[in-house]
Amino acid sequence: MRRRYRRPSGSRPTAPAQGSTEALRTQVRDDIATVERETGWRYDTDLSVASGTKVGGYPGWTQVPDWPVCGCGARLEHLLTVATWEFSRGDEKRWIPLEDRAAMAGWGFAAPDDHPWRRIQNPAGLTLGDAGGIYLFVCSACPERPFDHRFDCS
Ligand SMILES: [Zn+2]
Repeated sequence: MRRRYRRPSGSRPTAPAQGSTEALRTQVRDDIATVERETGWRYDTDLSVASGTKVGGYPGWTQVPDWPVCGCGARLEHLLTVATWEFSRGDEKRWIPLEDRAAMAGWGFAAPDDHPWRRIQNPAGLTLGDAGGIYLFVCSACPERPFDHRFDCS
């Protein structure tokens, strides 16, 4: 069964704040708090960046973001993430494939070593600096498509 998010009644996004960056920041923070309170979904773990290995989207940085910049001055675009883990504690509510959720019952770091959650979390058996990732970026503004990478770990 596919889980769908339905906007709770009364939680409508407000028009963007006019004026200062701080006013916009406050509005975004307030809107996120409203959604979290009304739905139980947490922005950081459930609603923002998908965990795990992926093509496109946004990097799920383990550390502080470190976007590479091209020689042309453009920020490189995220192309690919290779991650140690497909999910972390806290984001398992959202980012575990539906077909794997039944096998997650009883999961946790205290679970036996042969519990299926360990295979679901790290199907490739990778260890990238502990629980980190490798991020590939490309500049689509330059015809020769220069690229760069970043690596981070916990
Ligand atoms: Zn460029």
